[in-house]
Formats: sequence, C-alpha cells, structure tokens
Amino acid sequence: MPELAEVEFFRRVWMRAASVPVLEVQLHPKARPLREVDYEALREGLTGSCLESSSASGKRMCYKFSGNQWLGVHLGMTGELRVEAPGFIPLKHDHLVLRLTKSSLIFADPRMFGRIQYASGADAPPWWRDLPPDLLSPKFSEACVNDFLLRHQGLPLKAAVLLQDGFAGVGNWMADEILWRSHLHPQRKVATLTAAESVAIHAETVAVAREAMRTVAVEKGTTFAEPPQGWLFHTRWGKVGLCPRDGSKLRRETVGGRTTAWCEVCQPKGNKRA
Ligand SMILES: [Zn+2]
Repeated sequence: MPELAEVEFFRRVWMRAASVPVLEVQLHPKARPLREVDYEALREGLTGSCLESSSASGKRMCYKFSGNQWLGVHLGMTGELRVEAPGFIPLKHDHLVLRLTKSSLIFADPRMFGRIQYASGADAPPWWRDLPPDLLSPKFSEACVNDFLLRHQGLPLKAAVLLQDGFAGVGNWMADEILWRSHLHPQRKVATLTAAESVAIHAETVAVAREAMRTVAVEKGTTFAEPPQGWLFHTRWGKVGLCPRDGSKLRRETVGGRTTAWCEVCQPKGNKRA
C-alpha cells in the first residue's frame, strides 16, 4: 500500500501535465474505485479544464482543475497514476483516462481498493476539509501526538501509529521504522507509554517522514530512491532479517492486523528505553 512518499511521488507524476486542457474523459463506470462518482458530471466538469494544482494529505491526494473542479484520488492497495502518450489504448485496469493534447493521464488500480472522488465548487469539498495534520507541518506537534495517543490508550503501539487520523501517511514499513527507532515494542499498549516515550514517537515519526520524502526524486519524477542505509526497512523483509543496530534476528508477527518486524534486544517489552 502506498505510504507518504509514494503518494507524493504519484502526485507529482500527473503534475507534469499541468496547464494543458483536458480534451476528453474516459472511464470505467462500473469499476469499484469510481463507485462514488457522478461520471456524467465528472466528464462534463473536467472536459476543457486544465490541471492547476494539487496537494497530498497522508495517503490521499487532490487535484484542482480550472473552473473549481476537484478530483480526489486514493490509491488503495495497488492504485497508481501514470502519464502515457496521447493515443494510448487503455489497459484492463486503467479505470480513468484524461486525454490531453500531448499526453494521457491514467489512474490504474488492479485490485480496486482505491477511490476516485469528484466535486465542483469554489470551496474544497467536504472530503478534502478537516484533514489530519501533515506529519511535516508545525501542527503535528508533541502535544498533538500526545493527545492523539491519550485517545487510543487500549491499542498496541503498532496499531496506534497506523491510524490515519493521527499519523497521516504512515503505513506498515514506516510504522515499524518509527517504533524500532524509538526503542519501543510494537505490542506494548499505548497506556504504558511514559511522557518521554511519547515525545520519542513524535520525533521519530517526523524524522522518518522527512527522510521518506527525501527519497522522492524531484527530477522528472520517474523513480524514488530507497531510505538511508542502516534503517530497519532494508532488513525487515529479508529471509533472516537482522537488526541493523545489533545484528539480532528480527521477530516477525502480526500486530494490529499487519505483519510486523521488531528487534527484541532494542525493543524490549518493558517500558524502559534501551
Ligand atoms: Zn536491535
């Protein structure tokens, strides 16, 4: 599932075609990601309009077209945005195609857990208002994290840092990285956290988010790099995953519904930081 940096990567892919009018809109009206869309309104609204700007929030993004047209994109598990040639023939999973003079903008989603939303109007639509704080904004403060965690005391830490209304954009690998860097066991309950540990979660979330965003290649947006060496990311999926700090064999179990990797040496179950 795309996480913060991948969403940012895909957001930039379509922006390469900004300021060019849409000639035609093609879509698969029965595809599940388009279930909420009034496709006649979408077709009418976007035809003739130009992509003006976009923003991302956590795992979601929103494209603003001229004439106050809003297109929301959630990539779900397998969604992606591409730019193809103008005469490109859509493939089976290309559910939305915007034809421009020199390119075609494609939304594809093989497993169809993604979602497209559309609205028109001067103000941002309800689904693009009241967004959770961006991990790299001043709003995502120590106090904000602490308040959020206080509201989820019964959860294991892994499940808490995956909640999108508090940790927007954090997915499975980021969550494991944050807890590993914070020396916190993923199965510990939020209620057992000390004030210092809550501060550590905030600091490591910001650090991981910042590094993850740095991996998004700005140049042409054709690829994104891997996180820095020495991160858990590089060893967590290995056959015998080893802790980058101490070389211990990583534990792997389902926590909070997701496969989770951690090091029992530097993430002990007790509430003392290593
Ligand atoms: Zn370790």
